[in-house]
Amino acid sequence: MNWIWLVVILFWTGGFAWFADTVRTALRNRHERKLELMEAAKAERLAVETAHKPPEPVCGCTHHLAKHDKSGRCHERVEVPTAWDENKKPLRFEPGQCNCQQYVGPQPLSQVYAEELTDRA
Ligand SMILES: [Zn+2]
Ligand SMILES: [Zn+2]
Repeated sequence: MNWIWLVVILFWTGGFAWFADTVRTALRNRHERKLELMEAAKAERLAVETAHKPPEPVCGCTHHLAKHDKSGRCHERVEVPTAWDENKKPLRFEPGQCNCQQYVGPQPLSQVYAEELTDRA
């Protein structure tokens, strides 16, 4: 029964404590890795969800895509300053039309799909 002596010697020399410690550390590391993986998966899921969400179709002129006509001109009513004070701060406004010439914001997904379908047809 040599192996019993080996175990006893290991125990005496602190080898056993080292072994137990190694196992404990390994278990803890595995647990931490699992947590990290779970965190990574959560972040990935969030990123995927954000990527799948269509961006707000808002143009560079800050107006919604719906305010632009087919040729891209913006029809949103805006206040056009007609008078300024000495600090170049507008004093009076007149209702006018946004002078945006082309919608430059993101295209809504439905429209992109529709265009692809029309291309194929
Ligand atoms: Zn615009
Ligand atoms: Zn506009």
